[in-house]
Amino acid sequence: MVLEEALMADADDFARIFVHELFHFVWLRLGNAKRRSYERVVARELHQRLRGELGWSAEWRKNKLRPRDWMLRTRRWREYCCESFCDTAAWRYAGVRKHAEFTLRARARAVRGRWFTHAGLDSGITI
Ligand SMILES: [Zn+2]
Repeated sequence: MVLEEALMADADDFARIFVHELFHFVWLRLGNAKRRSYERVVARELHQRLRGELGWSAEWRKNKLRPRDWMLRTRRWREYCCESFCDTAAWRYAGVRKHAEFTLRARARAVRGRWFTHAGLDSGITI
């Protein structure tokens, strides 16, 4: 956990990191069907050569991906998907509207947002 470091950072970064870390637990409990469904969302972005992410943790991993990673669902791919999920949750639920690490374009953000809604993750998450 990187929460200790986050406590010393500013409030926005603390909120983002807190939600990100919380959603690592959500990812673990999400189940294979929903995890695969999220993977398809980000795979579609890669097919469309969409750059950008919603946090640095996902972005540096995204930048290292090669086509074989998402075709073979390598460990690198699965780690990227998990970090992308957690960074997207932080973007969606931490209450931070603007951040230098939100580099994914608006339309793709909206697609991810709808995925979170349809996955039933919106209810009960307000901090
Ligand atoms: Zn993480």
